[in-house]
Amino acid sequence: MREEHEDGSAKLTINPPETSGQLLEKPRSIRALRTAIREGNESATAVAEGYFARIERYNPLLNAYLSLTRDQALEQAAAIDALAGKGDPLPPLGGVPVGVKDVLAMRGAPATAGSRILEGYRPPYDATAVARLRKAGAVLLGKLNCDEFAMGSSNENSAYGPVRNPVDTERVPGGSSGGSAAAVAANLAVVTLGTDTGGSIRQPASFCGVVGVLPTYGRVSRYGLIAFASSLDRVGPFAASVEDAAQVLCVLAGHDSLDATSATQPVDDYATATERDVKGMRIGIPEEYFGEGLDPEVRAAVETGIDALRAQGCEIRRIHLKHTQYAIPVYYLVATAEASANLARFDGVRFGHRSKSATNLSSMYRLSREEGFGAEVKRRILLGTYALSAGYYDAYYRKAQQVRRILAEEFMAAFGEVDAIVAPTAPTAAFRLGEKSEDPLAMYLADIYTVTASLAGICGLSVPCGATAAGLPVGLQVLGPHFGESAIFRVAAGVERAMNGVDA
Ligand code: GLN
Repeated sequence: MREEHEDGSAKLTINPPETSGQLLEKPRSIRALRTAIREGNESATAVAEGYFARIERYNPLLNAYLSLTRDQALEQAAAIDALAGKGDPLPPLGGVPVGVKDVLAMRGAPATAGSRILEGYRPPYDATAVARLRKAGAVLLGKLNCDEFAMGSSNENSAYGPVRNPVDTERVPGGSSGGSAAAVAANLAVVTLGTDTGGSIRQPASFCGVVGVLPTYGRVSRYGLIAFASSLDRVGPFAASVEDAAQVLCVLAGHDSLDATSATQPVDDYATATERDVKGMRIGIPEEYFGEGLDPEVRAAVETGIDALRAQGCEIRRIHLKHTQYAIPVYYLVATAEASANLARFDGVRFGHRSKSATNLSSMYRLSREEGFGAEVKRRILLGTYALSAGYYDAYYRKAQQVRRILAEEFMAAFGEVDAIVAPTAPTAAFRLGEKSEDPLAMYLADIYTVTASLAGICGLSVPCGATAAGLPVGLQVLGPHFGESAIFRVAAGVERAMNGVDA
């Protein structure tokens, strides 16, 4: 891990792996933290120092953070302490320690996107999501590890080494936002930002036992996000509770003129939605999400969650999403095609790595990309370029777009009958490090329950819903219509209350 200083210098800190102590720890709620700081029971500076101490202790083992921004974090904390000292109201995330996935630009910090090709790149600006956190008083601790260019489901594709799951350090945290999920699970941040193109927030949230939200496409600005697949990429929060996730989304959501795909719809009060009971809500259970390949323990946990919703007065309806089986090929055509276009900009000219062995312009392009990109990224560029090439475009890319439309329409029809859909987030709990890394197809197929919502542009989230016999967390996925975030927060809060043993 590199420790960043404001002057741009970096110092490598190597600590011995620490295995004892409270690795898995639930962060305090945003509400509790803000109250403590506002009432002067604690200073934001002391809170931030406490987080850096935990990071120093546990990060060598987890590898969740790639870089820290201690100086700017302490400045932000001091500003919050000054407000609290004057008795002024605190902004919505005043003093809340936050981490940011390394695919988002954050002033004063590197942005590697988990890739060698961007080593040393320091964006001179904030992504809109980061700027909004900053404005809301958050204390930005640093940048979080992820699969290279957010391509993967295990965090094993990071050029900076895998992240370990704090629940079981021999297992993956999920991906691609593995660092973001692991950081919340291990209380190395109260809240983190991730991105989800085909499941990269929901699946790691499921594997690490935290809440992860996929906002509707257009709900949160993508400005300052290093693009993977622009029609699918979304920015969203990870948190330890549904309420905290809802509060952060209130800060992140809203129109941004810097992102042409950003929506102008007014932003609902998601935090209030989490306080409403679920009585009378119509919940769809899609049969196609409970078939072959679903681990029986995951199924049992999700069914317990569904039973809890029924007990709280939801109307549970079986529904069909018949085209679900086509979602994986459609996703891996659209996502790779867009990736091959987006990643063309990394050629050694403007950003990041430039090969030292190049002898002319074309060898500079070729060698910079050869040396800078990892195997999975190269595989995707090849697949995507092939799908877009003349003669194949109609058969692959155009066809995929047509099926994508059908998948979206199928969801729209379902949301004519139900308020939300409940399903597993992933077919299994967290797998072992190395278990799937040699088999890209097996890794792709495991995205079956998450890529559908990505293709349809609808919102979704993963909320913890029990565990397997081995103690591995299981995530329950809640899907909602476009801009239906309030409904999915409401359902998730119902599941969470049941898991916490609170009577609804
Ligand atoms: N696992 C999927 C992929 O590898 C999703 C990644 C993501 O959502 N960024 O493409």
